[in-house]
Amino acid sequence: MHVLRSSRRTIVVAATVALVAGGAAGLNGTATGPDSTGGGTTAEVVPASGEPDTALRRSLAAAPDGLRTPFEASNGKTWTTVAQAQKFWRDLDASTDRVRVSTVGRTNEGRPLQLVQVGNPAPRSVAEARTGSVLLYTCSVHGNEPSGREACLQLARDMATTTDPAWQRLLRTTTVLFINANPDGWQANTRANAQGLDVNRDYMALESPEATAITKVIRDWKPDVLNDLHEYGPNQYYKTDLLQLWPRNRQADEEIHDLAKTMSEEYAAAQVESLGYTSGEYGLYVKDGEQFLQVAGDEQGRILRNYAGLSHVVGMLSETANKPLDDAEAADTSLLNRRRVEVNYTSAVGSAQMVLENRATLVRETAAAAERVTREGAEQSGVVYFAGQDNVIPESSAEVEPEPMCGYQLTAAQRTELAPVLRAHGITWRTNAGGAFVKMAQEDQPLIPLLLDARSEHRIAEATPVDDC
Ligand SMILES: [Zn+2]
Repeated sequence: MHVLRSSRRTIVVAATVALVAGGAAGLNGTATGPDSTGGGTTAEVVPASGEPDTALRRSLAAAPDGLRTPFEASNGKTWTTVAQAQKFWRDLDASTDRVRVSTVGRTNEGRPLQLVQVGNPAPRSVAEARTGSVLLYTCSVHGNEPSGREACLQLARDMATTTDPAWQRLLRTTTVLFINANPDGWQANTRANAQGLDVNRDYMALESPEATAITKVIRDWKPDVLNDLHEYGPNQYYKTDLLQLWPRNRQADEEIHDLAKTMSEEYAAAQVESLGYTSGEYGLYVKDGEQFLQVAGDEQGRILRNYAGLSHVVGMLSETANKPLDDAEAADTSLLNRRRVEVNYTSAVGSAQMVLENRATLVRETAAAAERVTREGAEQSGVVYFAGQDNVIPESSAEVEPEPMCGYQLTAAQRTELAPVLRAHGITWRTNAGGAFVKMAQEDQPLIPLLLDARSEHRIAEATPVDDC
């Protein structure tokens, strides 16, 4: 059977191209085992209309001498270490009122999961931040993909020190958050955390302290926009400077999906291309200009890019190639490393530009999506998708539920076991004689069946769907 989602609306958002600071530098470790890749799409995209904003770019590039990262200081020869980054954050925090560094969790090896907050004139409380807009960057959740965290160090510093009116205006209404996503993997130069878990496959089960902390940041701060910074291994069919992707999961609210796709293509990719780099869609192999294979970039809700969409966050994935893409990069590792950082930095600037130009729309639509799915949950309307993605229709009736449940009944044992995980997701329940009832009429409605239904591949439990409440 074919259960078609209603056709997507075209979102028209003008993109201003260009920002971006230049040149940081270097690195010495060699990353291993980067991300794999992925897939096609429809989408009516509106051409970017803006002109490059060189004033903005210059203001961001003006780094104070005393606050250069070790990567910048080495011109790209050496990557910043965990200890050096902690010192950098301390120094940045001490140097300006605009920055606050806090700890939102501990890794398995006891390292702090640091949340760096930037605001103007000063960082805001969670409650204050939620009355404005919030932009979250997750920095190298895969520990052997260093360019994302280098980009975060520089961008936080540049936002904290810029005198540019546009950036200062952004920071007056928007709280910008950076989270150092996997310091144990950073220390060990591994993709996984110290448990051997891929944190970017853990956003549903929350077995890692890292995914748990990031999920709670999303729950508490309710970011409007998220950019998740990574690196991938290029090959002959897969070799652009930036690969980007939005949430493909069909459970994500359509407006959020469309805004995320617009941000990925019209802001992040456009920014990167304005510097002369190339961009493409993550997960898709291309030969002679044609996409011929989807190798990654799927719908799994346990991946942050999709989890963001399920949580009404306009989120995206950024990936830069971790190997040389031309002879010049092959001959000069520092040049290669600087490109890796600059591409992730520039994609991140694209997300900031998305907020700068569309703040009111983002605030309105993220709130509207939460209200919409809550109402759908109460009305038992819509369709629940356990599989498929925005460019793939589910193949069998087992993968969809056209008559949604009104909630799930948990046993007492399930309630006890799942309470911490549900709480971290922000999902509420009502204790009853059988255990607990999780109603669909709440903001996390899109996520609930993926967590609790036996038909969901990455479920954390097999609870009983209830059709009549
Ligand atoms: Zn990655």
